Amino acid sequence: MPDSLLLAAIADELEKIRADGLFKTERVLLSPQQKRIKTERGEAINFCANNYLGLANHPELVRAAKEALDRYGYGMASVRFICGTSEVHKQLEEKVARFLGMEDAILYSSCFDANAGLFETLLDERDAVISDQLNHASIIDGIRLCKAVRFRYGHGDMGSLEEQLRQAEKYRRKMVATDGVFSMDGDVARLGEICALAEKYGALTMVDDSHATGFFGPTGRGSPEYCGALGRVDIVTSTFGKALGGASGGFTAGRKEIVALLRQRSRPYLFSNSLPPVIAVATLRAIEMISASDQWARKVRDNALYFRKRIAEAGFAVRPGEHPIVPIMLGEARLAREMADALLDDGVYAIGFSYPVVPKGQARIRVQVSAAHEKEDLDLAVSAFRKAGERFKIVQ
Ligand SMILES: *Cc1c(COP(=O)(O)O)cnc(C)c1O
Repeated sequence: MPDSLLLAAIADELEKIRADGLFKTERVLLSPQQKRIKTERGEAINFCANNYLGLANHPELVRAAKEALDRYGYGMASVRFICGTSEVHKQLEEKVARFLGMEDAILYSSCFDANAGLFETLLDERDAVISDQLNHASIIDGIRLCKAVRFRYGHGDMGSLEEQLRQAEKYRRKMVATDGVFSMDGDVARLGEICALAEKYGALTMVDDSHATGFFGPTGRGSPEYCGALGRVDIVTSTFGKALGGASGGFTAGRKEIVALLRQRSRPYLFSNSLPPVIAVATLRAIEMISASDQWARKVRDNALYFRKRIAEAGFAVRPGEHPIVPIMLGEARLAREMADALLDDGVYAIGFSYPVVPKGQARIRVQVSAAHEKEDLDLAVSAFRKAGERFKIVQ
């Protein structure tokens, strides 16, 4: 049993998190994840889910999931290599690989696990990994788990990347690792240039495309397609927990030799339960739907451009770009928090982010636009922003 001193020390730590204004509370949803959500504070239009294609509660996925429960049951109660591989896992791996134009793919319980199990399998102390400074926590942790020598380049800074690649030249294997789209700014990695530099220095390129797979780029193949670098990225990791239905699960896609080795050695794959068949089936259905029709991808793209234009016209400072992550820059942490509260009072749910999630003085409200939104929802958000902005004297 922990002694009271230990518990008191933990309570102090919690108190410090509160005092620093960093304590995270969880708003409880009383409805499914969808455009209009119900919370204890009433109903609101949701602008903070990663539900980019609006598929999280799509009737077609719900139907596919119900049928899958009847046909495949509930849980696998095994890891993949003992008795946890269902035909639907194999189908989904093939579908993902084909969708992305990669040779093969391997499923994980999450993209976090995909990243946790990637680097250690391919790299050891003879190798180097070169990582964007703003990479997602799961890439950082995955790199921590491997023994490769670590190099970090300035965010999106190609001069810095080349400098690090030069320093890493003597190592056996080199791997450049980056998010495809960065979640706080909605900016896209410069994958054309990154691939060119990686090719020049004989490095592999790894992209975590969680905020892009299924909807970003001309046909939804993600940031490599958006950057015109399709076929040049060696390894793509991504999630099913965002655009592709939003339940959970992730994957690594790449050359068949790489995927084959991951199946033998990747620890989160070997030592964690396989994805529930119900999720595999619904994700398969999601990929079929978006392969057959671009209506959802087109809508989220149109919505993102429309909202970006309208909110800029309303006088707000927006990080430029085309991605449905739209950061509205406010500066002060308290302002971002109070603005988000005022928006919620007007039925618009978006979250304020401040230090240490984003740099000091760059607090913001991050709006995430979805294919589930209609023009009038976006108009409602813009007028709520305008009203709150006037009240807090950010816009006239
Ligand atoms: C959301 C996200 C993840 C985590 O995905 P899960 O499948 O929820 O574990 C990993 N990487 C990036 C870049 C993400 O945005």
